[in-house]
Amino acid sequence: MRLELEQLLILQDRQQKIRQIQAEIKTLPFERAHLESQLAATAAGVEALKQKGRQVEVGRKNLELDVGTRSESIARLKTQQYQTRKNDEFQAIGHEIQRYENEISKLEDQELELMIEADKLRGEIEAADKNARATKESISRQLADLETKSTALKAQQQELETERKTLAAQIDDDLLDQFERLFNSKGDAAVVAVEHGVCTGCHMKVTTATAARVKAGKEIVSCENCARILYLGAV
Ligand SMILES: [Zn+2]
Repeated sequence: MRLELEQLLILQDRQQKIRQIQAEIKTLPFERAHLESQLAATAAGVEALKQKGRQVEVGRKNLELDVGTRSESIARLKTQQYQTRKNDEFQAIGHEIQRYENEISKLEDQELELMIEADKLRGEIEAADKNARATKESISRQLADLETKSTALKAQQQELETERKTLAAQIDDDLLDQFERLFNSKGDAAVVAVEHGVCTGCHMKVTTATAARVKAGKEIVSCENCARILYLGAV
């Protein structure tokens, strides 16, 4: 029995490792997605700033056009003003010219504000671009590391699976069946120690008779509470 228990414990160890590796492999796509979303968010941040920069530039150009049309109007009015001989008409045109000049002055103030904003944005875009390049580099490296990790884990899993198969082939079919059912239903271990008369799987005291049977080591003994297979641990 001792040999069989030893074999089961080794098998259990490999299966636990396989389970752990499988769990780790399962997290990899989430880690990858997280990194990729970080990358996308950084790029979107830069793009938003650039978009804002383009909007400011469009706004500035529109103001420039507005100034241009008013300058043309002023030139036209001035021609009219020289051609008129009526004093009141001359003055009326003069007021209109003044009105356009005031408008131009306001438009130019707005243009200046936009130019200052554009300057500020240029600095921000440059910083964001630099930051995005660094982020991209770091994330690319992390993605490559994940790929390496994934390959290593899969190879490790493959190795353990092969070892598991060899071990399983040496174990009696019924016992292996019992082990597999327990291993899958318990989630942690199918074979556990009895320590100081307590099953370390469910932490319940086993009966004296069970403890004695485990100690004798002549048969496969199960915990009467949780059904896990027992072996003798610390007495
Ligand atoms: Zn138990």
